[in-house]
Amino acid sequence: MKSQHKSHLFVISGPSGVGKNTIISAVMQRVEGLAYSISHTTRKPRNGEINGRDYHFVDEKIFKKMIENGDFVEWARVYSDYYGTSFSGIKKKLAEGKDVILDLDVQGGMNIRKHFKNSTLIFVLPPSIEELKKRLSKRETPDEIIEKRLSNIEFELKMAEKYDYIVLNDILEKAIRETEAIILSERCKTYKRVELLRSLI
Ligand code: ADP
Ligand code: 5GP
Repeated sequence: MKSQHKSHLFVISGPSGVGKNTIISAVMQRVEGLAYSISHTTRKPRNGEINGRDYHFVDEKIFKKMIENGDFVEWARVYSDYYGTSFSGIKKKLAEGKDVILDLDVQGGMNIRKHFKNSTLIFVLPPSIEELKKRLSKRETPDEIIEKRLSNIEFELKMAEKYDYIVLNDILEKAIRETEAIILSERCKTYKRVELLRSLI
């Protein structure tokens, strides 16, 4: 899919529990013209998660059928579940002229960059691994799930160097404002404002 629209894709990645969802929810409330890309996953819903709002929760059979049908812009196996971004999910939002924000693992981030050269990749860092563990334990109960997620950190942090921006989520409000600032400054780039400029000449 070629991005001929003015719309922009923003990818947010970072270790599990670092605060991606929390930051995205706040930014969505503060920045207009943003849409969230709802992924498909084979993971079971957590308490409070709603099908069609947080994810499209599907079983492995449906997910694999979607892969076969070429329904995904990108998909990856993350922490032993499948996650994917469907073409149909983001197409509509881009057609409406909205910028789209995607919460993806680092494999997803790299794949989006291949399809959409112009996309902006933001990596969220925790202040420390200890603090990350605390946040993860607050949310996930089974120890083996926490362990699995923590075991991926080294790989994820290595990939962070390929990202355009790093947001440090020590103080939540600061991390939200940094993310907001990245989105707004991307929108002010000259190539996005050429028409505005020419209308005055
Ligand atoms: P992710 O989407 O990256 O997996 P979440 O947004 O679900 O992470 O956040 C994981 C937990 O950490 C949640 O309980 C959230 O409230 C908490 N959290 C997020 N940011 C901060 C922060 N800056 N300080 C303390 N706790 C935070
Ligand atoms: P969680 O299970 O905590 O919601 O997400 C686990 C990981 O999967 C996170 O790193 C999140 O960014 C990633 N993820 C969520 N949706 C997608 C997707 O559609 N594609 C890819 N590649 N990763 C995703």
